This record gives sequence, structure tokens and C-alpha cells, in this order.
Amino acid sequence: MNIISGTELAKKLKNEMRMEVSALKEKYGRVPHLVVIMVGDDPASQSYVKGKSKACDEVGIQNTTVYLDKNISQVELLRRIQEFNLIDKVDGILVQLPLPPHIDEHAVMNFINPKRDVDGFHPFNVDGLYTGKECIYPCTPKGIIKLLDYANVPIKGANVVVIGRSNIVGLPVAKMLLDRDATVTVCHSKTQGLSEITKKADILVVAIGKPKFVTEDMVREGAVVIDVGVNRVDGKLCGDVDFENVKDKVSVITPVPGGVGPMTITCLMENTIECFKQKYRI
Ligand code: NAP
Repeated sequence: MNIISGTELAKKLKNEMRMEVSALKEKYGRVPHLVVIMVGDDPASQSYVKGKSKACDEVGIQNTTVYLDKNISQVELLRRIQEFNLIDKVDGILVQLPLPPHIDEHAVMNFINPKRDVDGFHPFNVDGLYTGKECIYPCTPKGIIKLLDYANVPIKGANVVVIGRSNIVGLPVAKMLLDRDATVTVCHSKTQGLSEITKKADILVVAIGKPKFVTEDMVREGAVVIDVGVNRVDGKLCGDVDFENVKDKVSVITPVPGGVGPMTITCLMENTIECFKQKYRI
């Protein structure tokens, strides 16, 4: 069994990006600039925002984190986003989700300049993903594909099962795997006979948010298992896959923490650099 380390791949890619950013600075007199907007004080969001800022520092990307009060009105939040939409030297804008319930997340995502939408959630980018037009790819699905390639897992012709159909992970990763000529089945909470379906998968991607949900009776001998889930049980992080129970049956598996998570942040750095380069049409 091979554990694919997202931490190791992320480190390698961040080193490469650091060199690229330094070359961009030499040529254009500035480095890419990411603005992260955080509304409220949710502890999990705060830790994600800190992780993004740390990754920016590692790569040499300029990072501005804007902390806004949880009671901010939607109009005021949109006004703040518009400020950054208009500043020429801002390349990426990200609004940390989830937002307080009085704010319409779709309205906020739609308001970010699509050319700076480093999360890839703006409808223009979502449309691009599904219609094959140029777009910014969402970070977690992009990171999953990079992990599979890094582990030399053949995607073309593979029978892939994705559990979870969210717009952030399940659906876009299914589309990106289809584009790589995999045969993809997407399962969800109403799927009947789930384990009969997952047992046929060459590659199983799990993104549901249920701790240790996938057990060895649900996976085929020698399968590749990508665990996207991030859950906290008794203060400890764990995935949607029961790692200890499954690991001896599979050929390749991602750990939690240290698998998909670090790759999501790495792809965010990559998207910010791509937005910068797009401005200069490099
Ligand atoms: P989500 O929007 O809550 O979607 C969960 C999906 O799982 C839904 O499609 C749901 O089905 C399905 N589901 C729930 N229970 C199920 C069950 N018993 N059997 C089969 N399917 C079931 O979640 P998400 O945003 O995609 O996130 C999923 C997990 O990934 C979470 O743990 C999240 O924290 C993690 N995540 C990690 C990263 C990372 O960078 N590592 C990034 C994003 C998310 P229905 O559609 O039928 O409701």
C-alpha cells in the first residue's frame, strides 16, 4: 500500500512556485497578490485563513487578509469586494466560506471579478468547467487530480466512483475525471446499494463529511482511495475513510491530515499565480 503524501507534493510544488514568483517579480516589478476576506470569527475558518496566509508567505505571494464583523450587511460586504475588484494590483480574491446566514453566498460569489476568482466558484468559471471553456479550476478537485498524477494512477479508462455531489468537490472532480476519460459514477445520500457500487471502483473519491464512513467491505482489493473528508472526532482530525481499517486492502490511499488538504491550498497559490499571468497574458 502506498500512502500519497499531499504534504510532500505540496512542498515540491510550492518550491517550484517560489522560484516562478521570484522570476515574475524580476520581470514585472511585483509579485501576485491574494486578498482573503473573512467575515466573523468561526474558529475553523480562522485556521483555514491562517493556513492560506502561511502558504502565501512560503511561496512569496503578497497576502492581505481582511477581517470583517459577522454582522456586516450584504451591501457593505459587496462594497468591500468591489474595492478589491477595482484595484489593479490585486490578482486573486477569496471570500472564506461559510458566510453568516443573513448573507447570500451566491450573491457574494457572483460579485467577485471572475478573473480574480481563485476559488473557481463564480458562474463564469463554473460554466467554463462544464462547457470546456477557459476557466479557473476549483482548488480541491484540481488538487485531487494532481495527487493521482503524482502517484502515477492511470485515470484514462478507470472506473471511478465519487461519493458526494457538492458543487465544491463531488461534481467538479467528477467532471474533471470525465475530461480525463475516466468512467465516473457519482453517488449521494439517496444512492441505493452504495457499497455494491463502491466495490467496483478502481478509484474511489470520498467527499461527504462523515467520519470513517468508508470501511474495508466497501472497497475493492487494490483500489485507489482519495479521502477528501475533514472531520473532527474528540479533537482529532480524521477523514471520511476509516484509514486503519482500509489501508491494507488498497493499493494507494491519501491520509487525513496530510492528503488532499495541503493540495487545496497549493492549488489556491497556483490559481493566484495564473490570475497574475493572465493579466499580463504570459
Ligand atoms: P457537502 O456540501 O456537505 O456535501 C456532502 C455530500 O455527501 C452530499 O452530496 C451528500 O449527498 C453526500 N452524503 C452525505 N451523507 C452521505 C451518505 N451517508 N452516503 C452517501 N453520500 C452522502 O460537503 P462538501 O463541501 O463536498 O465536503 C465534503 C467533505 O470534504 C467535508 O468533510 C469537508 O470538510 C471536506 N472538504 C475538504 C476539503 C479539503 O481541502 N480537504 C475541501 C472541501 C471540502 P446529498 O447531495 O444527497 O445530500
